[in-house]
Amino acid sequence: MPPKYIVVLGLLMSGLGKGAVTSAIMKMFDFYDLKVLPVKFDGYLNYDCGTMNPYRHGEVFVLDDKSEVDMDFGLYERFLNKNLTGDLSITGGKLFSKLVTKERKGGFLGEDVQIIPHLTNEVMGNIENVYKKKEPDVLVIEVGGTVGDIENSYFIEAMRQFATNHDVTFVCLTYVPALDVVGEQKTKPTQIGLRQLQQVGISPNVVICRSKAPLEKKAKDKISLFSNLEPQRVIDDSDDYTIYHLPLHFMEQGLDKVLLKDLGLSGRINKQKLNAWGIMTDKIRTPKGKIDIGIVGKYTDLKDSYASLREALIHAGAFSNVRVNIDWIESTDLEKKSGTKRLSGLNGIIVPGGFGKRGTEGMINAIEYARENGLPFLGLCLGMQLMAVEYARNACGLKNANSTEMNPKTKYNVIDIIEWQRGIRTKGGTMRLGAYECALSPNTHSYRAYASKKITERHRHRYEFNNKYRQTMKNKGLVIAGINPKEDLVEFIEWNSGFGIGTQSHPELKSRLESPAPLFVSFVKEAINRSASK
Ligand code: GLN
Repeated sequence: MPPKYIVVLGLLMSGLGKGAVTSAIMKMFDFYDLKVLPVKFDGYLNYDCGTMNPYRHGEVFVLDDKSEVDMDFGLYERFLNKNLTGDLSITGGKLFSKLVTKERKGGFLGEDVQIIPHLTNEVMGNIENVYKKKEPDVLVIEVGGTVGDIENSYFIEAMRQFATNHDVTFVCLTYVPALDVVGEQKTKPTQIGLRQLQQVGISPNVVICRSKAPLEKKAKDKISLFSNLEPQRVIDDSDDYTIYHLPLHFMEQGLDKVLLKDLGLSGRINKQKLNAWGIMTDKIRTPKGKIDIGIVGKYTDLKDSYASLREALIHAGAFSNVRVNIDWIESTDLEKKSGTKRLSGLNGIIVPGGFGKRGTEGMINAIEYARENGLPFLGLCLGMQLMAVEYARNACGLKNANSTEMNPKTKYNVIDIIEWQRGIRTKGGTMRLGAYECALSPNTHSYRAYASKKITERHRHRYEFNNKYRQTMKNKGLVIAGINPKEDLVEFIEWNSGFGIGTQSHPELKSRLESPAPLFVSFVKEAINRSASK
């Protein structure tokens, strides 16, 4: 069977949910048991997003293979329930650096190297390589940014050329606003966006319309007219109760059939998979109870900084049939101990990952509050490191103990830089990244959560628990629940009473609706018990 491609483009503006649309399209194919994979193009000239600030760009997602990739990969994995690889992420930085390296090696001797055809050929070569390596039934290519941007123009041009001799279906996402006063949905922006797309030589096969209220027939007909498409190719993507419902919503409109037909594919729906997905989304829609979880972090103003964490709580909540309400708490607000009063109504607390000193004293206060008040606690990466710091200060008498990341001169460096990180000066892909093994000790919460002695979780850090303090802290009751066997690094710690777990890893990165992260499932169950006993 010849390779099949879908290219997803965005019109007018970013932030419409192209990643969710791409994921939902892939999930539809997955329901047909077709092998589907994504490719994401990002126009920025960074090699990858590892050096970007999550506060501006959103979470940096990490894959098993150590790649630091755009947060959309989190969405893809959560929908596909599959571990993806870094070669599926193509960035402007990677393309340009490859091209210039090739040129320096004499790869284009005698030629003047140009955007067209050299860079566009590089793009097409990359896509073909991915296909050859992985041989999916369908490759779905999401083009970051919007049509009309300078950053992605050469990529879109490459897709136009690619479509001349490959099986390509173009899907574009547009925005259909409605002014509050008039109420009527307006299609003019979409008409202009479509014209812009047609100007670069692409006619979409499907138009997906993002809107607040369901797409009105009048708007649909108008868009159909301007895009030269039958109305069944103009698809509603109005606000829904959860993005996980999107593949089902698209299938109700027949989008699966349209795309299969365009690509010349056929298949039968795997009813079991589809029904199981429906049951999970129903649990998100109508949960039986609710719990309140506080997330004490420093990037709380941009919720996308903690996208995987937010989703992991949705998955664990759906698993236990509760809605997890998140109280986003800016850690600097807890720097004075009196600030911790606001934690009293919560059923559990999470301190997520992060970098740098700002806000860490507030996080430590939150951890102390949780430990002293028997609140279920989960510390993720930085959260685990600060859990160790809090325990050292308040349960082991190591006054002002700290991580050397926060205070390089601390007397009690219970968290210190990983030995092999000391000499590293370059940034970008140089942290301890990706999947690492951990051996869990029996009779611990962590072991019970995973029901397994050997686990792997993903990592992204430079600092670690200082083994010099392991025995002292163990003597004072800290449980060392998991160790990386190869490097003898502490991976999991626990309190010896109540429910408090800290992990050096990021289990939220591997949580999916169809397989929620075990640690989050346990944490949510504890929080439910806590709310019931109140
Ligand atoms: N800043 C800490 C470190 O580098 C924690 C990193 C994180 O939370 N991802 O080790």
